[in-house]
Amino acid sequence: MREYSIAAIPADGIGPEVIAAGVTALESLQKRLGDVKFNVETFDWGSAYYRKHGVMMPADGLATLKKFDAIYFGAVGAPDVPDHITLWGLRLPICQGFDQYANVRPTRILPGITSPLRHAEVGDLDWVIVRENSEGEYAGCGGRVHRGLPEEVGTEVAVFTRVGVQRIMRYAFKLAQSRPRKLLTVVTKSNAQRHGMVMWDEIAEEISKEFPDVTWDKMLVDAMTVRMTLKPQSLDTIVATNLHADILSDLAGALAGSLGVAPTANIDPERRFPSMFEPIHGSAFDITGKGIANPVASFWTASQMLDHLGEDEASARLMRAVEKVTGAGITTPDVGGTATTKDVTNAVVEAIHSSNV
Ligand code: NAD
Ligand code: MN
Repeated sequence: MREYSIAAIPADGIGPEVIAAGVTALESLQKRLGDVKFNVETFDWGSAYYRKHGVMMPADGLATLKKFDAIYFGAVGAPDVPDHITLWGLRLPICQGFDQYANVRPTRILPGITSPLRHAEVGDLDWVIVRENSEGEYAGCGGRVHRGLPEEVGTEVAVFTRVGVQRIMRYAFKLAQSRPRKLLTVVTKSNAQRHGMVMWDEIAEEISKEFPDVTWDKMLVDAMTVRMTLKPQSLDTIVATNLHADILSDLAGALAGSLGVAPTANIDPERRFPSMFEPIHGSAFDITGKGIANPVASFWTASQMLDHLGEDEASARLMRAVEKVTGAGITTPDVGGTATTKDVTNAVVEAIHSSNV
């Protein structure tokens, strides 16, 4: 029996609803496969914890998480707690503390889900966006509001290190190489951002020499939004900075039908620490408690987690089950359906157990 310890942090808004759905799917995979066991421990960290204790997680939170094989994370964000506190108090400390420098965001149009792109069908859009996850504007260095000047000035400092760019570039080339089309697009804004971004371009040239079988090109981020919209078939693997990929992957999620289906993995490729798996979406307080949150992103990221743990069969079975269910039109209102979170979850569980999945 292979056993894994998983720390679940459902946190805020619809986080608990979609993580509960994912844990149900893990339990049914465990039952179906019989030779693997997921020991899930749930932590009550997040905005409710903050209201009680003044912090989003305990001081020894990272030390606690470090012992787990993986972290399964919902979302943070509450109407009465400032976003910078929820983000910098829980999610970013985990990403940074565990050096999860590769943020991997697959996008596909799933069966039964309609893309807002008029001509795009299942198969026309099959991307993986690799988001640099430790540097750029999110490094948390140097930015401030310079008060007391005649004209107040706010600065954001984007930090890029050679080592940081090299490692994400190498990760992206390797990932592109593992995919059938062996195609990588490196996104920057090196016309306007003349320092860190120029270094990105140089390092892309340098690392590409290690991967002669990967075809790659460069795009400026603004032009990239146009290409994603008009020529989705021309893209496969994409690598971009923390900020640029944050924006591009929301667009990607929308083009694939809904943010409610888009997953993400925060990976420590060197496996020194647990990696963290989460839906891309936030806490969605407009639909919290209504029972209609789309659990597909949560299932898909659970599948990424299983893949990372080396449980390929469980990972693939979960995605086949999800695609069977979306393909049968059992979907939540955000993608045009009428099903509830529970309906979709029950259907996925049934598909996991069915013999033709
Ligand atoms: P959001 O992703 O929470 O919601 C955007 C829209 O998409 C909403 O209309 C919402 O109902 C819909 N949506 C999102 N996920 C859905 C799902 N699974 N099923 C159905 N519909 C879904 O983004 P927002 O409204 O900009 O932010 C709300 C809060 O979440 C803010 O506090 C924000 O800071 C936070 N946030 C957190 C994360 C994170 O934890 N990683 C990411 C983004 C936003
Ligand atoms: Mn985002």
